Amino acid sequence: MKEYLKNDSDQIDHILEIIKNQGIGYLNTISERPTSVSNMPVFEKQNLPEQGFGTEETLKIFNERFEPIMVGSGGPRYLGFVTGGATPASIAGDWLATIYDQNTQSTKGHGDISANIELETIKILLDLLGLPDNFLGGFVTGATMSNFTCLAIARQWVGKEQGRDIAKDGISGAINILTATPHSSAIKSLSLLGIGSGNITKIKTAGEDREAISVDDLEDHIIKLGGEPFILISSGGTVNTVDFDDFKAIHALKEKYKFWWHIDAAFGGFAACSDTYKHLVEGWEYSDSITVDCHKWLNVPYESAVFFIKEQYKTLQVETFQNSNAPYLGDPLENFSYLNFLPENSRRLKALPAWFSLMAYGKKGYQEIVDNNITLSRQFGQMIENSDDFKLLAPVRLNTVCFTLKDSGKQDEVGKFLAMLNETGKVFMTPTFYHQQNGIRAAFVNWRTSENDVVLIFGVMNTIISQLK
Ligand SMILES: *Cc1c(COP(=O)(O)O)cnc(C)c1O
Repeated sequence: MKEYLKNDSDQIDHILEIIKNQGIGYLNTISERPTSVSNMPVFEKQNLPEQGFGTEETLKIFNERFEPIMVGSGGPRYLGFVTGGATPASIAGDWLATIYDQNTQSTKGHGDISANIELETIKILLDLLGLPDNFLGGFVTGATMSNFTCLAIARQWVGKEQGRDIAKDGISGAINILTATPHSSAIKSLSLLGIGSGNITKIKTAGEDREAISVDDLEDHIIKLGGEPFILISSGGTVNTVDFDDFKAIHALKEKYKFWWHIDAAFGGFAACSDTYKHLVEGWEYSDSITVDCHKWLNVPYESAVFFIKEQYKTLQVETFQNSNAPYLGDPLENFSYLNFLPENSRRLKALPAWFSLMAYGKKGYQEIVDNNITLSRQFGQMIENSDDFKLLAPVRLNTVCFTLKDSGKQDEVGKFLAMLNETGKVFMTPTFYHQQNGIRAAFVNWRTSENDVVLIFGVMNTIISQLK
């Protein structure tokens, strides 16, 4: 091992060179890379090598066993879930984050200044999203952890309103959660936080074909709570139909009643980048906390998401996440360290890929990516609408197309159609269930996707349909 380590270290230029070339090969052909694995190999138990192989030999093993079955999930026709790609600048930032290997915690330079880069990136992101800078933010692994972080502080807020310190004393008694169409990860967060995934009050949606919250029903429930503090989990883009709660109306409620307002805007928040669609998030600046995913529409590599929490809650935030047992003394911003503001302690320089990409492409670059994806999803929606074989399950509100087979007698074939479609490796979509119907979702968030891709995808869909007939 010692020998290999020394060898590797001596020829680091060679190692990085072969990795670079492999990376170029992959990225330059990512559009042709299959979007699914056609022949899943059996993964047999491997033994830990006694001596090790060195990096170059290990790369050969990787290339033999794993490389051929890597899917083009960062490519232009991977429309499953909400899957972003990675811009060239973000890849550069990601590589450097690994090479510099900083442990991002304190802004006072406990040996390192990377927390300053993170704070700077948060400010730039707020700017991109048109949010005021009275939000304090940080990077976590994904929107799930962002929801968790925000809801943890919301939980502490509710406790304080009731005269207790939940972070210190633990949770006892119920916490009121109101929500209409929460993302599964927000529910998971409630179970992690001891609030309980079952302890939510479902508010009606704003209509038959809506996933957004009914503000009237919300107010009725608020009145029923009779002044009890509660947490509202609201949606800035639901996953099926990308429906947005009416933030202006919720803001008006917030003026009348006391509650913690959390918005899950994992991908929908990027509507703020588009002049045509930014009205969808109007009023979100009055919320208490916001979740935004960066590995989706910002197109940076996994794992990257941010939380935004109003700076006025910094004390609650530190109570929730402080790493020392001693009560926090003084202003937590004075001697700022991320380890008192979020779940993790040691962390990589997660902000660097986002910082690179934001600096490299700016406001206009992201406006273009977002507008392009919205235009493409509308085009695709139009093709579905004009077709004899498919129909929309919901209007195309932003960047996601939710559709099914037109012939309602063929509901059982939706899954089969999707499996056949994904098996082609030309495109990847994910199943859903909406309005009592089996459906399919196609989400456009990749910077590479073009009109040609949409035409190609629709062609493949029609071929599959004719095979099914
Ligand atoms: C994707 C998504 C999440 C979860 O995000 P991860 O990055 O997978 O943790 C949460 N909320 C919404 C609305 C999402 O779209």
